[in-house]
Amino acid sequence: FNTFVAKNEPMPTYSPGTKERNLLDACVASYECRIRDIPIVIGDEEIRTEGERYQVCPFDHERKVARYYYAPKPVIQKAIDSCLSGRKAWERTPLAKRAEIFLRAADLMSNKYRYDLLATTMLGQGKNIWQAEIDAGAEIIDFLRFDVQFAREITEYKPISPNPEELNSIKYRGCEGFWAAITPFNFTAIGGHLPMAPALMGNVCLWKPSDTALLSNYLVYEIYREAGLPAGVINFVPADGPVFGDTITASPDLAGINFTGSVKTFSHLWKQVGANIETYKSYPRLIGECGGKNMHFVHSSAKIDQVFYGAVQSGFEYGGQKCSALSRMYIPESMWPTVKENLVQFHKQLIVGTPLYGETFMSAVIDEKAFARCMSYLDYARKSPNVSVVAGGRCNDSKGYFIEPTFLETKDPRDKLFQEEIFGPIVTIYVYPDAKYRETAVLASKTSPYALTGALYAEDKSVLDELSEIFEDSAGSFYINDKSTGAVVGQQPFGGSRLSGTNDKAGGPYYLLKFLSPQSIKRRT
Ligand code: GLU
Repeated sequence: FNTFVAKNEPMPTYSPGTKERNLLDACVASYECRIRDIPIVIGDEEIRTEGERYQVCPFDHERKVARYYYAPKPVIQKAIDSCLSGRKAWERTPLAKRAEIFLRAADLMSNKYRYDLLATTMLGQGKNIWQAEIDAGAEIIDFLRFDVQFAREITEYKPISPNPEELNSIKYRGCEGFWAAITPFNFTAIGGHLPMAPALMGNVCLWKPSDTALLSNYLVYEIYREAGLPAGVINFVPADGPVFGDTITASPDLAGINFTGSVKTFSHLWKQVGANIETYKSYPRLIGECGGKNMHFVHSSAKIDQVFYGAVQSGFEYGGQKCSALSRMYIPESMWPTVKENLVQFHKQLIVGTPLYGETFMSAVIDEKAFARCMSYLDYARKSPNVSVVAGGRCNDSKGYFIEPTFLETKDPRDKLFQEEIFGPIVTIYVYPDAKYRETAVLASKTSPYALTGALYAEDKSVLDELSEIFEDSAGSFYINDKSTGAVVGQQPFGGSRLSGTNDKAGGPYYLLKFLSPQSIKRRT
């Protein structure tokens, strides 16, 4: 622990015929023929309540992959009590020991469970092999290892003791109370990270996973336990969202909420915390990552090849269901004919279908709600006089929730397609007069209420400087001549402001400060 230096986990390619690919295919097949039963876990106790529910494959909604149960209010309260009863013992466990557990979990993920993590993410969340690998293969391991290194670094600070009669020190305590991690479907790594980060820093935590990511998330939970995480430090509590939110925010012991999900839910949680503020023992801390309306802004000096690859990858990888995904693009008039032609050609080559085998580029969106939301924007696009379809636009939910990757063009840079988050494979383009790049950039920086990721494509150095300044406040993670997705732990700490969240930067050191409530001690001799 004292000398541990994290490195990013290497990623196999899974090319057909390789050993890794064969092992992965066999692992997928083993999950295909069963339905995993996923209990609520509180302490050492597995709980199954009435009214079983099923997680299905997004690309084949008749196929069930997991059976699970919702925790009602009294069970959630029991999970809180169980966490609190073990809090002091866990907080007093030295950081090095807590870290050891998560490093062991990282090794288990890397060596023993990698194919299981990928298979459950592919089947349950509809990721293709590569998207599963960068998430449940590498990123989750990176979160564990880098957080251990960051935890050591941020707790190495020692205050000054100005004379021999006085010893000043800091006790790096966790927070009094319990944390709640409310996690999304789109990254198994985020699912695993949100409860793990507070736990590493000495907190106890309730983990409410997404209903559509249970298969992979439960496996992550089991790995934490196998690595030695004591019972009750993290309790696994699938539940109805509003019931969970109401119960945790009504508890006087709520220490914080670590959230990734919609703006609507996050705002609601803030309001509930606000309404109950006088009832808490400590002010709860809220960390939120809530999506984006991310742009690629292309200047006429850009390298044109980078523009197509970036657009297709960022817009459509994992069906545009990354918070960081491209959803609005600005292209100079002079480039538009070539860009358009290439986007249409690229589009023809994209393989959409089952994510399990073959070289599928993209699969279905996560569920019926996501499908309906995408459809409503495609309907709007068809009806709006300002909007035309450049490529794609079809949808089919007969077997899975399939939305074709779609490029739209709008004549109105303030179109709702440029303001509202869609969270699906739909990218809207606005073509601007080359000379008006500055005005267009200013408008682009203000059009959306979000500020998560953004990319600027330009080779002209003075334009780069000028536009980077204009975009300073409109993206928490900013890319120059690269696409807006694919932040790597330890390389590009990730997060955004405005409606996108509290910009606490997961995958960087400062994130962990939120989970500490240090005591400073002066001792006179
Ligand atoms: N870190 C991911 C990326 O940069 C996105 C995370 C998210 O979707 O919440 O692509």
